Amino acid sequence: MNFYVMTLFPEMIEQGLGTSITGRAIEKGYISVKAVNIRDYSTDKYRHVDDYPYGGGAGMVMQPGPIFDCYTDITGSMEKKPRVVYMTPQGKVFSQSIAQELAKEEDLIFLCGHYEGVDERILEEIVTDNLSIGDYVLTGGELPAMVMIDSISRLVPGVLSNETSAQYESFQDGLLEYPQYTRPEEFHGKRVPEVLLSGHHANIEKWRHEKSLERTYMRRPELLAGVELSKKDKAYLDDFVDKMEKGLQE
Ligand code: SAM
Repeated sequence: MNFYVMTLFPEMIEQGLGTSITGRAIEKGYISVKAVNIRDYSTDKYRHVDDYPYGGGAGMVMQPGPIFDCYTDITGSMEKKPRVVYMTPQGKVFSQSIAQELAKEEDLIFLCGHYEGVDERILEEIVTDNLSIGDYVLTGGELPAMVMIDSISRLVPGVLSNETSAQYESFQDGLLEYPQYTRPEEFHGKRVPEVLLSGHHANIEKWRHEKSLERTYMRRPELLAGVELSKKDKAYLDDFVDKMEKGLQE
């Protein structure tokens, strides 16, 4: 899968994604990440890419021309125009299901804004998806682009050494993941749950699923509305809630 990032700070993208798992995925050729400097497309002798907003107001706005030329350069030799994702706090909030949808694409372009944002006309012309990483405002779109590329890359076959590790994580089935433990068996007086030491795979799966249900109920109960729970799951949760409420009363 090929990611193209239109940015004023290509070194941020290269350094941020060039290490750890994404770095290895790039080296092995499972993904490619090309950060393209919008400033290289400025026609101004001072390499300006921004100007004052029409109508007045604070800050500067990124001009449409350099972004259009940068986009044309990236897509020039492509048969099919890829989706262009604009990083914006005004977009739909990124989620695991959006990551899964985007992971099916062969090429994806990310546009990172800076300053007060980007001239609306170029957004109307090239952007297919407006995405945000949450309801807060950052100084630029580079961190959001890296967040999205990281999470999409983990879903590209081969990127994670153990294919099942993406399958059983939080959000994959709508639930949060169960708690994890590693050596030592006892730490500060707390033992690893016995079932995990039993080697009994069916019991371990059952325990993990129940802990996922409990954890989702406790931490993100609103997620349960989007999950199709079996009769058994519903009964388990009812019982868990009952016990909790009794525990609180005692
Ligand atoms: N004036 C803009 C507004 O109120 O919507 C905010 C501009 S922000 C200071 C500069 C750039 O950072 C944006 O163009 C966008 O690319 C990026 N950005 C900031 N917060 C973001 C968020 N929560 N998610 C995605 N991108 C964000």
